[in-house]
Amino acid sequence: MTLFETKNLSVTYRTARGPVPAVRSVDLSVDAGQTLGIAGESGCGKSTLVGSVLRLLPKSTEIGGEILLDGRNVLDLRPGELRAVRWAHTSIVFQGAMSSLNPVMKISRQLAEPVMLHEKVSERKARVRVGELLEQVGIPASRMDQFPHQLSGGQKQRIMIAMALACRPKLILADEPTTALDVMVQAQVLMLLKGLVAEMGLGLILITHDLSVLARTCDRAAVMYAGRVIETGPTAEVFGASRHPYTQALSGAFPAIGDPSSRYAPSGLGGDPPHPNDLPTGCAFHPRCAQARTECATTEVTLWPAGPSHAASCVLVRDRDTAAVPAPRSPAAERPAPADGAEDPADDGAGTPADGDTDGDGATDGETEAAR
Ligand code: ADP
Ligand code: MG
Repeated sequence: MTLFETKNLSVTYRTARGPVPAVRSVDLSVDAGQTLGIAGESGCGKSTLVGSVLRLLPKSTEIGGEILLDGRNVLDLRPGELRAVRWAHTSIVFQGAMSSLNPVMKISRQLAEPVMLHEKVSERKARVRVGELLEQVGIPASRMDQFPHQLSGGQKQRIMIAMALACRPKLILADEPTTALDVMVQAQVLMLLKGLVAEMGLGLILITHDLSVLARTCDRAAVMYAGRVIETGPTAEVFGASRHPYTQALSGAFPAIGDPSSRYAPSGLGGDPPHPNDLPTGCAFHPRCAQARTECATTEVTLWPAGPSHAASCVLVRDRDTAAVPAPRSPAAERPAPADGAEDPADDGAGTPADGDTDGDGATDGETEAAR
């Protein structure tokens, strides 16, 4: 059975200024031992997606479609069942370990808390588990009685990973776990995550706006734009042979070190992604697309097959690869392609505002379901 799957997932925030459709018709899936990377500019809905899985979003948020964890729809779970799933089936590594750890609580207490709560063990037993967890993420168990400020940034992010592992979950959602770290420490943390996936057969969803991070860590990739998945497939294909002009622009924005051709010739993408309140018609990317045709302003796009397990929602792909036969809409189960990111029809992604990354905390403003 698939460990994690979304079918036609949509997430809409309710605000005083009206609905904000932050995630639209997203189909993704991950099996045990697999890593899926989700990339896209700030505001494209990555953190919203993560927050919806464990229902950490403001209470008024509307979630449509299905979020299946081992085949059970999270949206149908009662509060007690949902609490049991958090940490024990699926856990989240948030961005910004600096602000996620309680500065006045020793590491040991912060790590022991979920263990005691979920495994119903004594504090003494929980401390033994804390020692194991620290060793697992490469921190000596002897440091457990230190406070967060006594650890480096990388060590703090390792503690966050240890916390995510505390109740032996099957799936980890890591939302920009290395964004605040320098590149060397970032590489160590990524290697740690990758090693844990291989060793423990976990499923991992890694959210990042850094494609080099994604390429080093993930088997499969899904690129989001304006709340939708606009390209998905094996990571090497998605970024090595991108088919969507947006993915091509993202890939082009990362110069290769030592490559003289990228010197003095930075390539990037002009403009900003659209706000979910104000999505362009047709393909949401068309106002920024160098390859846009007239029809892109009106044609509803969907993920068209671009290879055996590769799909992209661009009419250029449709015309070249599919003789205008779109991939089936939903449900995802009908979809021939890979289990990973598949999005649905009418894909006209639209982006989001510059307010960007709510990353990490999944639950942004307002009362969250977690708090209830
Ligand atoms: P990303 O993680 O890709 O940067 P987010 O999921 O944080 O994107 O945000 C997606 C969109 O949803 C953005 O337009 C953002 O402004 C909006 N958004 C995020 N959280 C809320 C919220 N609590 N209420 C209303 N809009 C929100
Ligand atoms: Mg984010």
